[in-house]
Amino acid sequence: MSKTVAIIGAGQMGSGIAQTVAANGMDVMLADISLEVAQKAHAGIDKALGKLVGRGKMEIAEAEAVLKRITPVADYTPMKDADLIIEAATEKEEIKKAIFQKAGEFLSQGAIMASNTSSIPITRMANYSPDPARFIGLHFFNPVPVMGLIEVIPGLATAKDTTDRTVAFAEGLGKEVVLSQDEPGFVVNRILLPMINEAIFVLGQSTAGIEDIDKGCRLGLNHPMGPLQLADFVGLDTCLDIIMVLYKTTRDAKYRPAPLLVKYVEAGWLGRKTGRGFYDYSSEMPVPTR
Ligand code: NAD
Repeated sequence: MSKTVAIIGAGQMGSGIAQTVAANGMDVMLADISLEVAQKAHAGIDKALGKLVGRGKMEIAEAEAVLKRITPVADYTPMKDADLIIEAATEKEEIKKAIFQKAGEFLSQGAIMASNTSSIPITRMANYSPDPARFIGLHFFNPVPVMGLIEVIPGLATAKDTTDRTVAFAEGLGKEVVLSQDEPGFVVNRILLPMINEAIFVLGQSTAGIEDIDKGCRLGLNHPMGPLQLADFVGLDTCLDIIMVLYKTTRDAKYRPAPLLVKYVEAGWLGRKTGRGFYDYSSEMPVPTR
């Protein structure tokens, strides 16, 4: 199993991955667009660990040890010591391409490079890395410390040894693994995103309001969370990016984004991470925005 893991992109996913990997005894380097952003993410992880301690789910000493294992880094140079580099930056192919090319200069012999992309083809992105045989999709779920699943997606050129080691790493985090072929959206998002998108069409056509759409799916489908609440949780920009990848790669009109989703993203209402999406999160109880 990997001993030192580098994570590039310290947003909600990168932070959650860092916390989970460190909680399993491994050292983590955490990078973002600047040292300041990585340090801010480190402070966020400190807060998340503090909540676990407050709820009696983790001892203070353990929380301190977990935090100590995570080092914010300013650039990719120290990643030459990583056994695994996980990219968890914004779901835009140009951004990821630049990261793989730059971080690839520091990928050590035998180390694996993985992407947490939700939808961008692994086979294509493998070509931006120094060795496509050591490139793989490693798709975590949000919030990472809580969710029990990881999808592992080998690309066409991924070596079996890379897949085996990546599955062992994922299982070593205490997660269950689903292996997926490299098809748009893999398994879970291929099913989830059309559902979220359809819920936004239903809202846009005023068939029902936000709360009733979510209530319908919670009580009628036994989902723990309604699709609009879940969209806020995922991030509406990420939802739009994923549905656009499905739309562009398949050219199937069933994946066209709901106009209201585009509007929310254009307004900068991206969900929980900006404090407003389909719900307003400024008070204790989320309030529907329409
Ligand atoms: P986010 O917006 O919370 O974080 C993205 C982070 O990437 C930000 O901190 C941003 O500063 C950073 N970033 C942007 N450009 C960068 C660069 N050039 N170098 C380094 N860092 C850069 O987004 P997120 O929800 O954490 O999603 C990140 C990735 O994880 C995406 O590929 C997304 O599809 C995937 N993902 C998201 C979810 C989810 O539920 N949100 C679930 C699984 C996978």
